Amino acid sequence: MGLDEDSLDYHSSDPPGKLEISTTKPTNTQRDLSLAYSPGVAAPCRHIRDDPDDAFTYTAKGNMVGVVSNGSAVLGLGDIGAQASKPVMEGKGVLFKRFADIDVFDIELDQDDAEAVIQSVSAMEPTFGGINLEDIKAPECFEIEERLREEMDIPVFHDDQHGTAIISGAALVNACDIADKDISELEIVFSGAGASAIATARFYVSLGARRENITMCDSSGIITTERAETGDVNEFKQEFATDRAAGDLADAMDGADVFVGLSIGGLVSQEMIRSMDENPIVFAMANPDPEIGYEEAKAARDDTVIMATGRSDYPNQVNNVLGFPFIFRGALDVRATEINEEMKVAAAEALAELARQDVPDAVVKAYGDEPLQFGPEYIIPKPLDPRVLFEVAPAVADAAVESGSARKELDRSAYVERLEA
Ligand code: NAP
Ligand code: MG
Repeated sequence: MGLDEDSLDYHSSDPPGKLEISTTKPTNTQRDLSLAYSPGVAAPCRHIRDDPDDAFTYTAKGNMVGVVSNGSAVLGLGDIGAQASKPVMEGKGVLFKRFADIDVFDIELDQDDAEAVIQSVSAMEPTFGGINLEDIKAPECFEIEERLREEMDIPVFHDDQHGTAIISGAALVNACDIADKDISELEIVFSGAGASAIATARFYVSLGARRENITMCDSSGIITTERAETGDVNEFKQEFATDRAAGDLADAMDGADVFVGLSIGGLVSQEMIRSMDENPIVFAMANPDPEIGYEEAKAARDDTVIMATGRSDYPNQVNNVLGFPFIFRGALDVRATEINEEMKVAAAEALAELARQDVPDAVVKAYGDEPLQFGPEYIIPKPLDPRVLFEVAPAVADAAVESGSARKELDRSAYVERLEA
């Protein structure tokens, strides 16, 4: 109750909402105004007409991300519609600004139809340096992102898919290191086959997991090839259909190395955790209640359970804010045309590597003086760690250059200095 009331006060205090537009150039004199607008503004217009890339020189495009939603899958609230999603999209803008100094227009589209969303977003390309799709429901989100990536020459990134994939991917790399497991040999079970689970499973394959070692469960149990053949599951679930026997989540988890929960709370029992292989990796990420609670999972066994959740009140929070601000920062700064697999892998590896470094005192203090040292209770960096910006953005920028999707090169050490300034 307290949180709700505080939040309503926070949002309604004058001026309403959380964002405003401000100007970045002098506007004091008649001369200033005739530069900002007519007649002076015609000069940059002519330059951009002759070379569209000049938009990055003469407009705010290069630091501007569109956070776009149709409100069809908002937080845990479901399909609440475009207007009701606006506080969330403004909030995303707050995080972009706070963590990476990126400006956001939040765009709420009153459109359910995938084709209509695709048309609207692609028509906005001149405005933005990148598009963050947000809270659009599965399976439409897959088609919308895929088509926009083809049609647009700027990065298009559906954060609900890839954010989770990248951050939990970093956690997986480090968990394997601690549990002495080889990523290519992991038996991985997914609970959930929606936006985040499909994208996360795809990304773990990019990190070296074997597709045939992945078992995915939806609300009807294991997604088998048999179910796929009878047309019971959509094309995205079909991608992960397994030849193994039909069964439920408990059957799937028996002997597995990794559990990835992107479904709903409370589905997993201690018995199911006990049936897993030694030193199991358990990422129970349903929000607000995980598939199994932190203490419950830990207490289920005598060996080490490496546990991550979506919650801030337990160690190893898989929080998307560790990803999108810095990934877009790096992509925008090399004027990338996309955020490709190489750039996502680079982000995950940079996060994993950072978690293995000593943590500065200021960061430890910000998190209530609990010790933060690489190990089962600390496999991913903390969101308020300023080093995340200096590590992830350059790693993404470099990967964009190396993979050929950058329109501009950067000198890494000069770039890091600029970020630190
Ligand atoms: P989604 O697209 O709606 O997918 C939900 C999936 O859960 C569906 O595939 C659904 O199965 C499955 N499911 C529902 N009940 C189930 C059951 N009893 N047993 C097995 N599977 C069941 O949602 P999403 O966006 O991927 O998000 C899923 C969950 O992950 C949410 O709780 C969300 O908060 C959480 N999440 C956390 C993070 C994070 O920690 N950073 C990030 C993203 C998402 P059907 O396909 O059969 O309906
Ligand atoms: Mg979201």
